[in-house]
Amino acid sequence: MSTGKINFNAGPAALPPEVLQEAAAAVREYKNTGLSILELPHRGAEFLAIIAETKLLVKELCNLNDDYEVVWVHGGGRMVFAMLAMNYLTHNDTAGYIDSGHWAAEAIDYGRHYGQVSVLGSSRTTNYNQLPKLDLSADNNLKYLHITTNNTIYGTQYHHVPAFKSPLVADMSSDIFSCQRDYTQYDMFYAAAQKNLGTPGVALAVIKKDFLEKSFDNLPPILSLKAYVKENSVLNTANVSGIYTALLMLRWIKGKGIAAIEKDNQLKATLLYDALDNSKIFIPHVVVKEHRSDMNVCFTALDKNIEQALLTLCAENDIIGISGHRSVGGFRVSLYNAITVESVKKLVAIMTELEAGV
Ligand SMILES: *Cc1c(COP(=O)(O)O)cnc(C)c1O
Repeated sequence: MSTGKINFNAGPAALPPEVLQEAAAAVREYKNTGLSILELPHRGAEFLAIIAETKLLVKELCNLNDDYEVVWVHGGGRMVFAMLAMNYLTHNDTAGYIDSGHWAAEAIDYGRHYGQVSVLGSSRTTNYNQLPKLDLSADNNLKYLHITTNNTIYGTQYHHVPAFKSPLVADMSSDIFSCQRDYTQYDMFYAAAQKNLGTPGVALAVIKKDFLEKSFDNLPPILSLKAYVKENSVLNTANVSGIYTALLMLRWIKGKGIAAIEKDNQLKATLLYDALDNSKIFIPHVVVKEHRSDMNVCFTALDKNIEQALLTLCAENDIIGISGHRSVGGFRVSLYNAITVESVKKLVAIMTELEAGV
């Protein structure tokens, strides 16, 4: 089914073999319809059933009642950056943002197109190698406060999110369903699908009804949160195969259970961080241990020769996707839900072998 490679890419990311298998079967024919999932009508009964099941599963996995709406938004993470600001801010309104990494900073830039932005904390000056210290004095009269729960490029993660006064909105693109979490803490949360939840170009957004009520009415429907809710995420030709793949992921996540997934994720991260902390040739990017991400582990090598040696060894062992983002360099190993403990052990064994030979 898959290529047999171990894929540590940050996104689009590895999907579980079972999910790929079912997706492939649906490409051939979806449920005796005589049609491929790639041909399935977006307003037909089959697709409406797909949407309905995703909504149920998201609420079940997040332990949410009917106070929340679940939608699938076109365009991925950045589309939600823009929609959030457009749906809640005029030029006189202020939203709070926490500048904890590349994506957080990009969300801020999008926010500034539509309103005033108050940055409650930033770790930019230390190249985002820790979570920012927060100044919460501005945490009143904010239309919302935006947080990025996992910083994909720098490898930090909020394992505990502080309590805020303002409506809390979270970008969970790279850690949704990776750990147990109190989702009722959020007025809205969203995730681009291509990390823990499927394929690119589509994003999940969950919005509390009373927060939705506060969004603007007179926006073009394709950019309006209320319109997505009203039209059941089918405003125009929906991303049928993308949303179906997300459904397969949701079923897979439910099958494993988030508690078991979390346990595996912690084990995978511990294996890798232990190797880094005990290494003389690799340096972890995030030193504050409580801020380290279980999803993206970033590190550099002592010199270019070691860096190249690890890349070569990985290539020889069919391990791909470990190069760091251009803004950090070095390595980034993404340990999303689909990555097995065995795959991480294989990588750690290679790093240990390299270490022994230096
Ligand atoms: C990948 C990512 C995004 C961007 O998603 P796109 O779908 O490429 O726009 C946004 N936020 C976070 C935290 C991400 O990891």
